[in-house]
Order: sequence, then structure tokens, then C-alpha cells
Amino acid sequence: MALKTYRGNCHCAAFVFEATVPEITKAVLCNCSHCYKKGTVWAMIPDTENFTMVKGDLGKAKDYRFARKNFGSKFCPTCGTALLFIGRPQGSEKEHMGVNVGTPAMPLLSNMHGLVPDIWNMDTNTYDGASLGAPYETPVYTGPLPTKEVEDGKVYTGSCHCGNVRVCLRSKPLDHSFESPAYECNCSTCIRHGGTTIWPHKDQVVIQGSEHLSTYASGMLKAWEKAFCSQCGVFVVRRPLPIPDEVAVHIPAAAREWTVDAQHLLPLNLKLLDGVDISQLKITHIDGYDVIPPPYVNP
Ligand SMILES: [Zn+2]
Ligand SMILES: [Zn+2]
Ligand SMILES: [Zn+2]
Repeated sequence: MALKTYRGNCHCAAFVFEATVPEITKAVLCNCSHCYKKGTVWAMIPDTENFTMVKGDLGKAKDYRFARKNFGSKFCPTCGTALLFIGRPQGSEKEHMGVNVGTPAMPLLSNMHGLVPDIWNMDTNTYDGASLGAPYETPVYTGPLPTKEVEDGKVYTGSCHCGNVRVCLRSKPLDHSFESPAYECNCSTCIRHGGTTIWPHKDQVVIQGSEHLSTYASGMLKAWEKAFCSQCGVFVVRRPLPIPDEVAVHIPAAAREWTVDAQHLLPLNLKLLDGVDISQLKITHIDGYDVIPPPYVNP
């Protein structure tokens, strides 16, 4: 079978890797608690010997383990990009490895949107990771309620995967009746962390354990920093960074709504919340890959 070389990297380019493998045409969607919260879809690398680091020492990536702890989920501690998982399943002679399909700098799957996978129309196989090991124990939120009242509001709680960061949200019910869209974006940062966000007022949200958040800002404006759990890498919120007035006046009208006018908002990753069926919400796909300048250049 003809081999193909694939190259991928985290957003800040601390880690760049290559794998030479038979052509990958399908990704793997795992239904375990970790892959759900991280929003990662995997491209399987059949033989770890065919995988090399071009830049960065994989030993310096953060290695998160849970349940039986036989798999390490590696992510960049600087930008939070999920890189890959590696480990030996029980009873297996061979290590299994999968890379995050959101990282590729070269076409990885046959279904592409420019140079990135068409994440909303991807061929996937489902892997039943949820049935392995003990069931996930949901961390319990113990902080105060959000201060902002919401008419007919409901209180939701949730957490990152390791539980160091826990959140509470007061919101209109997050079901088919929820009017505002939930957003998924394929820009260079969002495609690497696979979040689904809603944009509540910041006083509708309380974050417990925010000292465990790491932050990363990118793009021309650096208007929204991405905050993720430093222990497990799950994307939690985007936080507005102050935009100096002299910069704000030059922001085109079309972009103001998302930058200057949105400074009181706190976009929250719905995948943290317990008891929310995201498939019931209206999901709006943002084609950030094409519309958010400047284009990201893969290292
Ligand atoms: Zn990075
Ligand atoms: Zn999984
Ligand atoms: Zn965590």
C-alpha cells in the first residue's frame, strides 16, 4: 500500500510531528468522557515507529491520564492543543496511537476544507471508549451561584475532565427551546480544541478553580484568550482581553460585534456542562478558517 507522510503541529508550534502511514481516510470518534470534553477526533497511526517529532520533545508535552491510566493524552502546555494519545490497551502487545485531526498542516483526511479537515462532514468510525474501565465520576461543583438573574433560568454545573476547574452557569434552559445559537468554529485555534460555545454574560458564570487555568491568545487582535485546564487540557472559556481605544477605532464594523461590543461576555464550552444534550441546540458553524484574518501559517 502506498504510504503518505502527514505533518501536524500545535497552535503555538512548540510541537511539530510527522507520520508516514497508509492513507488515512476515516477518523475515529471515541465516546468516552475525555474525548467528549476535549472534542478530539483521532486519526489512528497504525505503527508508532512511523511517527517522529520534527520539533519539540514529546516528553515535555503535558501527559494526562485517567481511569486505568494506560493511555496518555498529550497536549501542549502553552497553547493547550491536544496532540495525540498513546498507550497500550490491556492485553495488547502493541502501543496504540492517534493524533488529533485538528492539528494537521497537510491534508490528513480525504474530506478536506482547504488545508484543514472538513470537521463537520468527516467520515468517522465510532470507538466505544465509554465502556472501558470504571464509569467516569462527575466532579461536583461546590461554589456560589452566579449573581446574574435570568428569567426562567436554570442552573447548570460541570467541570473539565480532571475536575480541577468546575463551572456553574445560570441560563435559559439549554434544550431545543434555547434561542441563541451555540457556536463551533474551524479557525486554527478552535479546530484544535473542538469546543462548542455559548456566549453568556460573564455574571451568569462562576468558575471554581480558575487558578488551574492556563491561557493562550493568538490572532491579529488577540481579543479573546483561550483558557484551558492546565492539568487535563480541556478548553473552558474564552476571556475578552482589553482592546486599547486607539486599536478599537480601527476595527471594521462587521468585527465589532465579536470584539469591542462583546467584552461583557464569557464564551463557555458547553462540553463541560453535565446533563446537556448538545444535539438539541441550534449549532452555528463559523467558517473561521476562511473569514478570520490573517490566515494561520502552519510551521
Ligand atoms: Zn503549542
Ligand atoms: Zn476516548
Ligand atoms: Zn482539568
